[in-house]
Amino acid sequence: MLELEGCILIYDDPCYNGAGPKSNNEVNLAMAKKHVPVRTCVACGTSRPKRELIRIVRTPEGQVELDLTGKKPGRGAYLCPRAECWDLKVAIPRLQRSLRATIDETARASLEAYAQSLRGANAPQPATVEETS
Ligand SMILES: [Zn+2]
Repeated sequence: MLELEGCILIYDDPCYNGAGPKSNNEVNLAMAKKHVPVRTCVACGTSRPKRELIRIVRTPEGQVELDLTGKKPGRGAYLCPRAECWDLKVAIPRLQRSLRATIDETARASLEAYAQSLRGANAPQPATVEETS
């Protein structure tokens, strides 16, 4: 009988307010604020979600290469996937500054090939390419 009276006392405790489970609003807000990494194109300065930009990486060996997966180790710089941002006269000096690396002939060739593929999506390539300096 004494134990039963103890139970009754617990339910009469003024600290027990009878409220249900806490509201989930705070949890839902945290879930909605999903973090999207944003990077800036070195050519035009536009900030975009990282996965919409093309990453150029300086590998730990000091080689500059295109990183279409975005997962290579090393220091990265970013360009929009637009031909305008792949004007290499503008883009290469900025990439070199951003990566603190020298873009050698091999790296330049792969950048040029990618720039060509971007332009090729808009306009067909002529059969011969003019040499311009
Ligand atoms: Zn751009």
